[in-house]
Amino acid sequence: MEISKIRPPSWYPLQQVKGELSLGELLEIAKKRIDFLVSWKAGEIPDDSLDYLKNNALGNLALCIASAVTDDAYFRNWLLETEADFFATMFKKASPSAKLGILNKVFGGIIVGLSGVSEYLNVSSDFILNELATIRRVKKESFNQLVGTFEGFSVAAARFEKAYKIIRKESGLLLGGWVVAPLIEFFRIVKACFQSIMEQRIREIRKRIMGGNKKEVYEGYAQEVIAYWRGKRAKFVTAKSYVSSGSKLWQRPHLFPPCSRILYDKFMATGYIPHGERVQLALFLKGLGMPLEEQLKFWYKAVDNMGISWDNYLRKGGYYIRHIYGLEGSRKDYSPPKCETIISRYFCPFSKLDSSSLREVLKKINPKITSGALDRIIDACIIHEFTRACTMFLESITGKTLRRGFISHPLQFVRILSIYEKKKGGGNKRAKVP
Ligand code: SF4
Repeated sequence: MEISKIRPPSWYPLQQVKGELSLGELLEIAKKRIDFLVSWKAGEIPDDSLDYLKNNALGNLALCIASAVTDDAYFRNWLLETEADFFATMFKKASPSAKLGILNKVFGGIIVGLSGVSEYLNVSSDFILNELATIRRVKKESFNQLVGTFEGFSVAAARFEKAYKIIRKESGLLLGGWVVAPLIEFFRIVKACFQSIMEQRIREIRKRIMGGNKKEVYEGYAQEVIAYWRGKRAKFVTAKSYVSSGSKLWQRPHLFPPCSRILYDKFMATGYIPHGERVQLALFLKGLGMPLEEQLKFWYKAVDNMGISWDNYLRKGGYYIRHIYGLEGSRKDYSPPKCETIISRYFCPFSKLDSSSLREVLKKINPKITSGALDRIIDACIIHEFTRACTMFLESITGKTLRRGFISHPLQFVRILSIYEKKKGGGNKRAKVP
């Protein structure tokens, strides 16, 4: 059967949805999808007799509409991550033909099989095998054997604009606007591509609704969806709340630099921050000396782990925490990144936030900061002097000028602030910054 004729399985959340529904009906579907996603245990295949699977595509659309209209970043990140995790789990367990149906949809058409790719692109099979073997640094004969033995090594091709991630990872060949690689490389990027399609879907819905005349009606709908979602999370956060008052440095967020403080507050308030920010905060807390057990408990309250037993969490969700403590994977004992790395790869408010949001968060952390100091900080950010801006913010708290250079590491910020607090007599004398 031609791959273009294989339809994705019925659970695939991004299929076209036809028919008409009232907003009340859509709201019910959105709530059911939220119930499902927050109670779904990561990695588990749901029983397909369940009702929500029949409404997978509609449920996804209902939540995409809510995300598009409110533009709530927390909700959007949660939705994209959770839907992508669910998609990846289902994809992994799908039959080979269902997988091809999904790849065909996600990549907007895919050719599978060496002879088909060679014929379509008018390039000899020998050339393709040679080039792919070189990319994988194996002999052509060995690669040939892999292609003939394992289905995952069948040669496949998709258009560059959909599969460019394979080229970026240097795992495939670019031939006349097509990416040619073993099928397994397409499997590796399918989750990220699914997420990009969802993001695109949200952007398009936003454009359509904001440009139409039913904007206000949809806004009301979206607010109800987000309120329902928040309610679900609040229940969970209260149930498993982490108590952060104590004498240890990781229990004293008022000493944290703005990057970690914002992530910490966001997580405590909503129970959710995206993966990259979780890694950043986890490394920072580890750098402050937070023991592994404590850190596992801290993250256990995450909304994504809702419904997971402690034992199950330790096996699944706790993996990346153990990883950064050097107990899993490469067993490398990771250190918290310095400012330079955070600015280019993670979350530093001075580089990531716009002027008015930055003013707002800094004022929240230090209500006594003057407008003059805020103006100077914003000026420094405009010319990309982010660590200088952070230093000025620290000075706005201590009232003292930092003599040597600028802040270069989040732990340095904590060290200076904790010394200042001790001198003032308000801090805990035993707290030591590692
Ligand atoms: Fe954090 Fe460094 Fe940015 Fe300050 S400059 S907020 S310490 S990353």
